[in-house]
Parts: sequence; C-alpha cells; structure tokens
Amino acid sequence: MKSMRIPYLDLKRNGNLHASEINEAVLRAAGSGYYLLGKETAAFEEEYAQYIGTRFAVGCGNGLDALYLIMRAYMELRIIRPDDEVIVPSNTYIATILAISRAGLTPVLAEPDPVTCQISPDAVTKAITPRTRAVMIVHLYGRCAWTPGIRDICREHGLLLIEDNAQAHGCVCDGHRTGSLGNAAAHSFYPTKNLGALGDGGAVTTDDPALASTVRALGNYGSARKYVFRYKGVNSRLDEIQAAILRVKLRYLDEDNARRQRLAGIYRNEITNPSVALSPEAPEGENVYHIFPIFSSHRDELQQYLLQNGIQTMIHYPLPPHRQECYAEWRGQSYPVSERLHATELSLPLYPALSDTEILSIARAINSWHPLS
Ligand SMILES: *Cc1c(COP(=O)(O)O)cnc(C)c1O
Repeated sequence: MKSMRIPYLDLKRNGNLHASEINEAVLRAAGSGYYLLGKETAAFEEEYAQYIGTRFAVGCGNGLDALYLIMRAYMELRIIRPDDEVIVPSNTYIATILAISRAGLTPVLAEPDPVTCQISPDAVTKAITPRTRAVMIVHLYGRCAWTPGIRDICREHGLLLIEDNAQAHGCVCDGHRTGSLGNAAAHSFYPTKNLGALGDGGAVTTDDPALASTVRALGNYGSARKYVFRYKGVNSRLDEIQAAILRVKLRYLDEDNARRQRLAGIYRNEITNPSVALSPEAPEGENVYHIFPIFSSHRDELQQYLLQNGIQTMIHYPLPPHRQECYAEWRGQSYPVSERLHATELSLPLYPALSDTEILSIARAINSWHPLS
C-alpha cells in the first residue's frame, strides 16, 4: 500500500490558512481576564446574527445543545408540550434526533428524496399526526434542505420549522442564508464544520425575541437574572477564546465556501466513472459542500481502492439512526431510501486547503477504478 497522500480532512493545514489572525485572537481573549459571557462572545453573537440575517444569535456549548435548547425553550414557552412529535429526516446525523429525545419529545422519521438526500415534502406530509408540533430540516452535506413546499406544509398545519444548520454555514437559498429560513436554527462550530472553532461551540439563531431570551436563560442554569432561576436550565456556554477564533473564521467563511464550491466543480467535471453517481448540482449558492458525497453499489470496494492509492475517504453515515442500538424502538421499521443511501454513500476529501491538483488526482483515481464484483 502506498502511504497516504491525501487525508480525508487535514485541520492543521486548513488552520494554517488564517494562522496569524487566529493566534492573535487567542492571545487577545486569553489575556483579557474574561473567559465566559464576555465581550468576544457578545461581539461574535452580533456579527453572526448579522451574517445569517436574523435578529438574534445566542452562543452555546455545541450543536447538540443548540438543538436541545430550541426544543426546551419552545416547551417553556408552552408552544411545544411534553411528548409532542417532531419530524426529522431519517438519514440525518444522530445528534439531530438525540436532541429531540433529550428534550422529552418524540422524534418521527421522514425519508429523504433519494436524489438530493434532503427530507422529502411528501414524506413530511405523511408523517404528520395530531401530536406533530415541528419539522426539523437538516441541511445535510451542506446542501439547502428548505423548499417552498416544506414551508407551505408547516404553515398549513401550524408547525414550527426548525433548521439544523450544523453542516451549512453560509449556504444561501433564494437570497437568504440557511439559519434564517424557519422559526429558529441550531448551529454547530465543531472543528470539522465549515465554520469550525478549535474546540466545541454552538449557537441558536432566530428572529423571535422570546425564544432568544429563553434559550439564553436555559443555557445559563435557567437564569436571566443572577441567582434568580426561572427554569430548570443547563450550563451551555460558548467560551471567549472560541468566540474570538470564530470571529476571525467568520470573516473568511464566504471565501472558504467559494473555494469548496470551486473544488466541487472540479469533481463534477472530472468524475466520469459510470459505476459512480453524484448528486445533481443544487441551484447556485445552495450548496456549501460540507461533504462531497458520491454513491456506488460497490462503495466498500471503492473505498479500499482509493485508500490503496493514498486517498482517505469517509462514510456519512455507516449505520442509519433507526438501526442504532439507542433507538431499539425503531428496530422493526423500514426506511429503504435511507438504508440505500447509508449503504452506498462515500465522502471524498474536500476542504479549502486542498489544491486543484489534489482534487484532480482524486477524480482520476476514481475514474481508473473498475468494480471487481
Ligand atoms: C455536527 C452535527 C451536530 C452536532 O453538533 P456538535 O457541535 O458536535 O454537538 C448536529 N447535527 C448535525 C447535522 C451535525 O452534523
């Protein structure tokens, strides 16, 4: 086996792109004497809300907490009740679903469209019951999942539309950023995301002042005023050092996403192997390529082949949520579209630090592969 030339993701190389400004931000925050709920976090919240196009952004500990705090806040506001149902795509990352369960709500799975991999409006309609209160869309792989169809279904049935924007920071749909398309949105700044911290971080964006203040209080032990506890809250805060780093990275997000889109364009032009399928191109701006998925019925063989050629790939995700041990209650249920996506998906390396030449060499390696079986 040749040694690995192209790792799936090289965060060190990506980080080097803006290293001096990041180092400066870290030193500034570290030397400030304020480490939580200080100026950097407040400034980031303001800059991020402005970037996304919402009235409010509230920092929190991570993306899972952001999702959970949205649900809990709607419950404290008596808009969602315990045991209500939230519709969620059956092929999402498990965190989306775990957040719903953790809030004491019932996740209801809806299948994605087999071509776009995004939640299907028909599947959402079929999943609606008298207990449904919200639809959680997930901009999976960095591709916008919002459609006028989903919006209309939510309006017609009086459902909240919540976005999981963990994978699509900066994505633009119809002139609006993901994270501003529904009632509230959760963002993760996990290091591998398009907007990644150097540790954990998350945020909630919304135009709703009551939701924003409730999320803020819930993440601060349920307190809006010192030593006065209105809710049974949790501790979930964005720290000052991460906020300072995110302020730098936010300034480069559009540039980084444009680079991802350019690299994705090279894959699209160059990959011609008939044993491999790509998802069709989204309308302009509606995909920021957190992940570049390809699909093959000989996926595992292709992954091995690429590894032997020094190219590391990943699978997002190997096992669908309804087959996970933690959701044994779904064991007998069948979600054939998700199962097929989980069995055929392979994620290619794609991050701003990669060169055009590296992307070309990956595309050529894929084209030179012939399935054995
Ligand atoms: C990463 C991710 C999350 C969770 O974010 P963390 O910050 O790791 O808690 C939630 N949903 C999706 C779709 C994600 O990709």
